[in-house]
Order: sequence, then C-alpha cells, then structure tokens
Amino acid sequence: MDVPIAARRTIRFDVLTLFPGIFDSYVGQSLLADAIESGLVQVHAWNMRDWTLDKHQRVDDRPFGGGPGMVLMAQPVLDSVEAVQAKAEPLGKVVMMTPAGERLTQRVVEELAQEPRLLLLCGRYEGFDDRIRQILNPREISIGDFVCNGGEVPAMVVIDAVIRLIPGVLGDEHSATDESHSEAGRLEYPQFTRPRSFRGVEVPEILLSGNHAAVAKWRQEQSDKRSQK
Ligand code: SAM
Repeated sequence: MDVPIAARRTIRFDVLTLFPGIFDSYVGQSLLADAIESGLVQVHAWNMRDWTLDKHQRVDDRPFGGGPGMVLMAQPVLDSVEAVQAKAEPLGKVVMMTPAGERLTQRVVEELAQEPRLLLLCGRYEGFDDRIRQILNPREISIGDFVCNGGEVPAMVVIDAVIRLIPGVLGDEHSATDESHSEAGRLEYPQFTRPRSFRGVEVPEILLSGNHAAVAKWRQEQSDKRSQK
C-alpha cells in the first residue's frame, strides 16, 4: 500500500540472540516480508556469540551461589549491544525479553511502535546476568506468565504486533484500529466469509442485508457482548 511521504514511518528491529537462524523463515514470509520489501521495516538478527572474548566462544557460565543451569555472561551481551547500536542511527530503544518484565499488551505495543528502532535482547538458558539489566536499564517485556526456552519467540511476538501499527504494513489501515484490544478491553465482533452456509451453520442474515447501519449496529452489539463476557 502507498503511504503519503508525510505519514511515512519506518521501524528497524535489531534482534540479539544466540540463534539468529530462527528468524530466517519468519522474515521471509507474509506481511513481514512485504513490509521489508517495501522498506517500511528492517529486521536484523545478530549472533551475540560473535562478540565473546572467550577462547572457547562461551557466552554462558554457572551461576554464582550455585543452582541449576547456566547464565548469559555480561561481556558478550553488553559488547554486542554496543556494537549493534553503532551500526545505525538513531540509537535503538533496548528491550529485554524476560518473563519477569511488564506484560505485553496492545498499549505497550502502541508505545513500542512509536520508536524508530528497537533492540530486542533474547535470553537463553537461565537468563541474563542481572548486571546486564542494571547497566542497560532496558524496557523489560514479558509475553505472559509462562516460561519459553528463549527470547526469540517472544521477540517475534513483539515484532509481529508492532509492525501492524506501522502505516502501510497492513493492506487496509482500518484493520489495525478496528480490531480486538485497539480500544482497551474491547474485542472484535465475529467475522464470516463465503460460503453462506457451512455444515449447516448459517452466516447471520443481517450481514447479507446490505444495510450498512444495521450491520454496524449488529457488530457493535456483538463486540459489546464478547467484551463483557
Ligand atoms: N530462569 C528464567 C526465569 O525463571 O525467569 C527463565 C529463563 S528462560 C528459560 C530463557 C529466556 O527466554 C529468558 O531469558 C527470556 O529472554 C526468554 N523468555 C522466556 N519466557 C519469556 C516470556 N514469558 N516473555 C519474554 N521472554 C521470555
């Protein structure tokens, strides 16, 4: 979709991960691929291991105080953040993917979508040495109260939700304003497409009436009902 020059806004994501290959397929498909092709979105995945100073290429170590698992060391993470920041302007807003972060909601997505550049830090193993958080003071984001194996899928969730709000990424700009959570607590009405009848379940008559006012009223009622429920 063409966007007037004045309204043109782009966003760049720099993803710092130990598994950049996870993003190969994701960036090559569907809306994101189109958005990259049209220059509205950039996604760069960087391997934090490339910045380790350890001769065995290690990026993790055992936790002080004991306990299970391994912790991501501060040095490769901080060096990679600084090196990646230097690769482009402006400086990116640093976002740490962590189950301990603030919950990702549509409001948070809207705020993130205002940024021209986001650096998404993806943890692995037992997570980050806490000094990374103390030194970078990142925005800490959780996609929900559960634990994933790594920050890559949470980072994809952030990218997926944020790019919908960049003008021109969706075919129809109303798609993003007229959907669930665009207004706090509001859910979208049910949608139907052809055929009119499927396995004995009919499309509500009102949607076939051609009466736009009646359709709008029905949708509002359905949206209210769903939201209240
Ligand atoms: N030991 C950590 C804890 O109990 O909080 C969990 C570490 S988790 C196995 C490894 C990495 O996955 C985290 O550092 C984080 O980057 C990512 N991650 C896991 N669950 C997440 C969530 N709900 N939201 C955002 N990131 C998450």
